[in-house]
Amino acid sequence: PLPEPNPDFYELSDKLTAEQRALQLKVREFMETEVAPIVNEYWLRDEFPFELIPKMGDLGLAGVTFEGYGCPNLPYMMEGVLAMEMARVDASIATFFGVQSGLSMGSIYLCGSEEQKQEWLPKMNRMEKIGAFGLTEPEVGSGAAGGLTTTCKQTADGWVLNGQKKWIGNATFADVIIIWARDVDSGEVKGFLVRKENPGVHVEKIKGKMALRIVQNGLITLKDCIVEEKDRLPHANSFKDTANVLRMTRAGVAWMAVGCARGAYENALEYTKTRKQFGKPIASFQLIQNHLVEMISNLTAMQTLVYRLSELQDEDKLKDEHASLAKVFCTLRTRDIVRGAREVMGGNGILLDYNVARFVADAEAIYSYEGTKEINTLIVGRSITGFSAFV
Ligand code: FAD
Repeated sequence: PLPEPNPDFYELSDKLTAEQRALQLKVREFMETEVAPIVNEYWLRDEFPFELIPKMGDLGLAGVTFEGYGCPNLPYMMEGVLAMEMARVDASIATFFGVQSGLSMGSIYLCGSEEQKQEWLPKMNRMEKIGAFGLTEPEVGSGAAGGLTTTCKQTADGWVLNGQKKWIGNATFADVIIIWARDVDSGEVKGFLVRKENPGVHVEKIKGKMALRIVQNGLITLKDCIVEEKDRLPHANSFKDTANVLRMTRAGVAWMAVGCARGAYENALEYTKTRKQFGKPIASFQLIQNHLVEMISNLTAMQTLVYRLSELQDEDKLKDEHASLAKVFCTLRTRDIVRGAREVMGGNGILLDYNVARFVADAEAIYSYEGTKEINTLIVGRSITGFSAFV
């Protein structure tokens, strides 16, 4: 068995069964042996390691919590634990998996017809088909609920989609992109399965990112893109249905933040034990220990929070504000932890090879996607005061 790293300070993994623990360690081993050795190089080149896709497919984990269609039907707790294990080595690969397993498969699972589920979910579980989730637009991010400008219109041939989507993860190589668009007739938001071969879809890679560089984000232009009625998600009939998908996945982002923080902390801790100054390991200095204790304190608080969050989800009690509070708290604390990790490593903290700098950069994107700090704060604020401060 792999050695148990000590960042699980309150031994929260005791909550898992022996079988679940074995799966956690299997994913940890996969990440350490298959991903860790190549990740810095791909990050630097701003490219995706496509050779990992069949290997991840063999794990059979995508669609973690879904029942049937070849999906694992695991509890939400395990979905979180797996997201943490992936992000502990690389937040980009965890994000790739989250877009595939949560946002894309989740939209089909929650909003799709039986035929759509049969067609896509088993292949997406094995990663023979890759998905993307297109909600954000160049001019509409936080205000997506009321502000989407991408349109859909029903015609004799099906539906015609027009508009743009920005930041869409996996879009440059996805086989299917879930597109959320406003129906010009009813004014409601609808969801569509836009296949890569659909005419009228153009995807341009977003270049120059300083975070999550391995994730391939696209700018999608839909110009008179025809989608057949059979590819409309029949149970996506208003933004509430989109929000149901996001509620399910936001908890996973909180777990991912924990993984990102954990990876940086573990690498920094090891470094401080071996790096010597003034003839002693720097871990023996009080001020360095202060940094490390701050990190493990935050990390322990975050982990305790997300385990309870997933319990609520497994008990079917998860509310928007629960997921939002965890997302804000964990991504904020992660920013502190990765900066602390970088600090105790001195100059080497900014070198990719020392496996902390990448987490520092990636934490910035996790902080902003799936609802910014402000938006998730307003969701919690509305819940505790009864007043909505959105507009
Ligand atoms: P804006 O909404 O323009 O916000 C700018 C600032 O204003 C923020 O600080 C925000 O909090 C603040 N603000 C906005 N409204 C309010 C308000 N009412 N009160 C107070 N402050 C406010 N989207 C997808 O659909 N699919 C994806 O796969 C995807 N992947 C992504 C991957 C990455 C790496 C990134 C960076 C983004 C991704 N996104 C994706 C988009 C992401 O969800 C948005 O960036 C996010 O929702 C914020 O929107 P915005 O960037 O347009 O910022």
